[in-house]
Amino acid sequence: MMSNSILPGATLGILGGGQLGRMFVSAARAMGYEVVVLDPDGSSPAGSMATKHLQAKYDDREALDYMAKHCAAVSTEFENIPSDTLDYLANFVPVHPSASALRIAQNRYSEKIFFQSLGLSIANFLSIESEDDIELAKDFSFPAILKTNTLGYDGKGQIVCQNHGELVDALSQIGSVSYVLEKRIDLAKEVSVVLCRNQAGEVDCFPLAENQHSNGILDISIAPANLSQEMTVEIIDAATKIAHGLDYCGVLAVEFFISSGNEILINEMAPRPHNSGHYTLDACYTSQFEQQVRMMCGLSAGDSALHTPVAMWNMLGNIWPESASPNWDDLLKHGKAKLHLYGKAEARVGRKMGHVNFLADSTADAVELLALIKQRLVK
Ligand code: ADP
Ligand code: MG
Repeated sequence: MMSNSILPGATLGILGGGQLGRMFVSAARAMGYEVVVLDPDGSSPAGSMATKHLQAKYDDREALDYMAKHCAAVSTEFENIPSDTLDYLANFVPVHPSASALRIAQNRYSEKIFFQSLGLSIANFLSIESEDDIELAKDFSFPAILKTNTLGYDGKGQIVCQNHGELVDALSQIGSVSYVLEKRIDLAKEVSVVLCRNQAGEVDCFPLAENQHSNGILDISIAPANLSQEMTVEIIDAATKIAHGLDYCGVLAVEFFISSGNEILINEMAPRPHNSGHYTLDACYTSQFEQQVRMMCGLSAGDSALHTPVAMWNMLGNIWPESASPNWDDLLKHGKAKLHLYGKAEARVGRKMGHVNFLADSTADAVELLALIKQRLVK
C-alpha cells in the first residue's frame, strides 16, 4: 500500500474553503503539500492560505477538471458538497471520503437508518414527510425536537416541540419538505469521537471529547472526557463500527448522547474533521487535519495520543465588539492558551470566528483558565 502513497510535494484538493478547509490547508502545507481549494467565496478562510483558490461553484465543470488534472487526491471539508461532484472527480482522482459516505451523512433520516442497520442505539424518532406522519406523531412521546433532514447545522433547522400542537406550528415555521421528529433526551453528557480509517481498514481514534453546547452550537470541548473505561470502550466500538460500515477512508466524527439513565445513544456523524476535534491541534501529537492528509494520501495514521489535558473554547462572532476585535492581550499573556483565528472579516452573531485551546496539567485547570479568560473577553 505504501508504494501507492502520495508524498509531500504533491498537490491535494479540498472542496470547501471554510475554517475546516483552512486548517486542512495549513496542516497539508506544513507537511510540504500544495493545496488547491474550491470555494465560490472570494474571501473564504482557506482560499487565502491555499496554493491556489478556484473561485467557482461546486459543480463548475471547468474547476473540477482543473482539480482532476492537478490534484493527486481530493477531500472535502463539509458534507453538503453535491455528491455528484465527488462522483465526477472520482473518475479521475482518489476522493476521500467517498460520495456514498457523504450521501448518507447529508440526510438525517438516512443516517439514522444506517446506524440502526448496524444495530446501534439512537434516540426514538419518527420520519415526517406527509399528513399521515403528522397524524401518527400524536402518539409520539413529547417533548421532542423537529429537525430538518437536510442542511441543518449548529442547531439550525431544529425546533423543540412540547406537544403535538407545537409540532404542527413548527412544521409551518421551518417550511422544509422532510424531517425527523426526535425524542428529546435528558442528557447527562455529550461526547464525541474523532477517528480516522485508512484504505486498509485500520482505525485509529483520538481520545473522547466531552462537549458542552450553547444554543445548539458547540461552546466547549474538554479532553480527555471524564467517562468510565467501560463506556469509553462501548463508544469507541460504536464509532469504529460506523467507520467500517461505511468502508470509510479519512477522518470521521461521531457525536454521542449519554442520557441521565446512562444510556449511550448515537446523535449524528460528520464525514470530516469536526469542531469538537480542534483540541487535537495543540494537545495531541497529530492533529485531526494532519490525520486527514495522511488518510487521503494513503499514509499511516499519526500518533493520535493526547499529550496534555485541554479545554477548547469555540469563539463566535457574538464576542466581537462592533467594528473592532476582542482584546487579545489578556488571552495571549497565557503561554498555554493557543489562539486560532479563521481570518473571517465580518463577525456575525453565531458565526464561528476562531477557537482557543487551553492546555493545563489537568482538565479541571484547563476549564478554570478558560472560564477566567472567557469572563474577561465576554463583557
Ligand atoms: P447539529 O447538526 O446542528 O449539530 P444536532 O442534532 O447535533 O444538530 O443538535 C445540536 C445540539 O442540540 C446537540 O449537540 C444537543 O446539545 C442538542 N440536541 C439535539 N438533539 C437532541 C435530543 N434529541 N435530545 C437532547 N438534546 C438534543
Ligand atoms: Mg451536532
